[in-house]
Formats: sequence, C-alpha cells, structure tokens
Amino acid sequence: MSLRAPKGTDDILPPASRVWRRLLNAWEQMAEVYGYDLIMVPIFEMTEVFSRGVGESSEVVQKQMYTFDDKGGRSLTLRPEGTAGVVRAFLQAGAQGVMKVSYSGPMFRYERPQAGRRRQFYQVGLEYLGSPEPDADAEVIELGYRYLTSAGVPDVTVRLNSLGDAACRPAYVEILRSWLEDRRSLLCADSQQTLDLNPMRVLDCKICADVVAEAPSPVDSLCDACQAHFASVQERLVADGVRYLLDPRLVRGLDYYTRTAFEYVGSALDSAQTALGGGGRYDGLAEVLGGPPVPGVGLALGIDRIVLSVPDPELPAIDVFVANTDTRRAEALLMLGELRSSGIRSDNLPDQRSLKAQFKAADRRGARAVVVVGDEWETGQVVVKRLDDGSQETIAREEIATWLKSH
Ligand code: AMP
Repeated sequence: MSLRAPKGTDDILPPASRVWRRLLNAWEQMAEVYGYDLIMVPIFEMTEVFSRGVGESSEVVQKQMYTFDDKGGRSLTLRPEGTAGVVRAFLQAGAQGVMKVSYSGPMFRYERPQAGRRRQFYQVGLEYLGSPEPDADAEVIELGYRYLTSAGVPDVTVRLNSLGDAACRPAYVEILRSWLEDRRSLLCADSQQTLDLNPMRVLDCKICADVVAEAPSPVDSLCDACQAHFASVQERLVADGVRYLLDPRLVRGLDYYTRTAFEYVGSALDSAQTALGGGGRYDGLAEVLGGPPVPGVGLALGIDRIVLSVPDPELPAIDVFVANTDTRRAEALLMLGELRSSGIRSDNLPDQRSLKAQFKAADRRGARAVVVVGDEWETGQVVVKRLDDGSQETIAREEIATWLKSH
C-alpha cells in the first residue's frame, strides 16, 4: 500500500491552494495596515510553555497535545495555539512597552478529525501586548471582523462577553459554583468533574448547554472598572461598524483571561464548527509564564474553517499566458521576463507546442489573455488576445504591461 498523510492532516494542492494563498496574503496585508509587525516563534516549545500558558485544566492540555521527549530527554510539545509562545518570546527578549505582532502557521491538536476539525490546522493571529486599554481590545476585534468580511465569509458576527478580573471574578465564580451545585445531577459526568476544578468551564460544555442556559453571567458581577472597560470596547465597536452580539455564555475558564472574550461566527458552517476564530484579553498570562505583569489582548482565526466558509471562486493560476509561433521561443521567453518584471502573473509551456495546444493550456490555467509572440516581433509588436470575448489587438511590446493592467 502506498504511504498516506497522517489522520487528521491535509495536503493542500492546487487549485484549492489558490484560495489559501489569497487568504494568507490578505492576512499579511491587513495586519501590516493595522501596524502589526511579523513575529516568528518555534513550532515546538518546552511543554511547560503550554501546560502553564494554555492551562493544566484545559481540554487542550489534558487531552490534545502532541508531546514527546527529544533525544536529549527534554519534554517538547508541538504548539496547539500561538499566544503562549509569543508571550514567552516577549518575556525572553526582555521586551518593554507596546508590541503589536502577527503570526501565521500550523497548529497541532489531537482531535477527533472531521470537516473543520483537524489534527494539523492553520491559524493566523495577532497579539497586542503592553496595553490595558479598551481601544486595544476593540482594534483587535475590529481587525478580525474586517478580515473575515473582506475574505467573503457571509454574515460575520462577533460574540462578545466580559469575564471580569481578579477583583470581581472570584465572587462571580462562587455565585456560579453554588448555582451549578444546585443542579449537579443534571450535568453530564465530565461537567460534574469540571465543576469541582473550574465552574466557568461548565458553561462551555456543549452537552450541558440547556442546563446552563439560565446560569448567572459574569457580566452581572463586573466591578466598576471592568464595567467601564466593557462599555468602552462596545462603544468603539459600534463606532467602527462591527456587528456584535453579547453572549453571556462565552467563557474562557482560565484565571489569566481577563475582561474581554470574543468569538467570530459565520453562517456557512454547520453548528459544531461555526467558530471561525476567537480571542480575548489575557492580562494574567505573562505572570503565569514567570514574567512581570504584561497586559495583552489577541485573536486567532482558523484558516481551514474560513476556506470552508467562503465561496469557491475558481481562482486562476495566472493572468496572462505567453504563446509563440514555432521560431519565436527565445523572444517569447524575453517577453515573459518583461511581464514578470512588471508584476504580471504570467507563464508559458515548458516546451514548444502548436499554437492550438498553447491556447488550450492558457484556458486551463485560467488566463485572461494570451500574448502571442510571432513575426510582429521584428517591428517591436505582439498580438494580445482576450480569452473572455475573443477580441485581439496588435500592440507595441513596451506597452503591453500597461495595456494588460488596464484591461
Ligand atoms: P481556539 O484556539 O480553540 O480558540 O481556536 C481558534 C480558532 O482556530 C477556532 O475558531 C478555529 O477556527 C480554529 N481551530 C481550532 N482548533 C481547530 C482544529 N482542530 N481544526 C481546525 N481549526 C481549528
């Protein structure tokens, strides 16, 4: 039997990979436009970065990590998410002040594979470190919203909640614990266990959704400072035209998550995998990783799910195909070089074929136009034929790039 990719992983080949490239390029561009620098951190870290940074009691750490000992006997883990490594890098560099960074790359979780739930999946994300201000939260949320909307995801909505902070959350957790204790027998076995460890995580349980639908929300227990922060975030989202809904059930059950928590949903996926991404404020994380306090807020978006959510536009591989008559291959290669220098996506066949075969290839690659290099080359001209309406013109060689950009 021939070898196959491991369960829960995907090969992303053309033409499907064209959508991926478009989404990843758009991400780089948008992050840069909003002032986020690039950060690159290792794909594997000391296991402790995640066991502390994602949280011992989380499902990811308990059940889903790819952890192994290397040949030097160190326990390493393939990253299941991006934030812990980025904050570790910030602390290790002794960075100070504000740092806004974006990243993209594969993440690894041992999951039960299905559509939109993979063992290797691809995230883009960003972290806004060093600012406790609500404007930072709103900027991060807005960027993700704009990205998903401009990528073509239908009906993007932000689900938004506030989880409070060290001042008000402990009291909320006790209110929630006693409310859940009264209903312990209605909870699933897992949630009964989670209740003892971390009551907020019970709100996350899909099986217990009906039971916890009326549970007290952290929003009702916010202290004045958290309330003011939450109100400011919402004010800016409204001003920025971001569509959001308050979701009192949206939680992250770890202590270092503070205040803002959010998730993006779209309408194109079935219910289990509707979350396209999420994020929140994590003012306690740097200390959990052994550093000084550093406020931060970030997001991560799952490209695999975004690809499933956007229409498949059958993107062309190239814009322009260069064809040539039998004796003009060398000239055609010159032409091709000139087009590529002008930034026009262009290609030809690797060997000499009939014009008919070359036009067929142009069609297959999705080209808009074919530039034919023939005897007109002697007078500095080429023929350009548009494939959509079949029209053709003879144009001066040095004008061709400008012509193609404007047609
Ligand atoms: P999380 O870090 O769990 O909040 O995930 C953020 C986003 O990453 C999710 O909303 C998904 O879009 C994506 N994601 C998380 N886990 C997976 C997975 N196993 N397969 C595909 N995408 C995932």
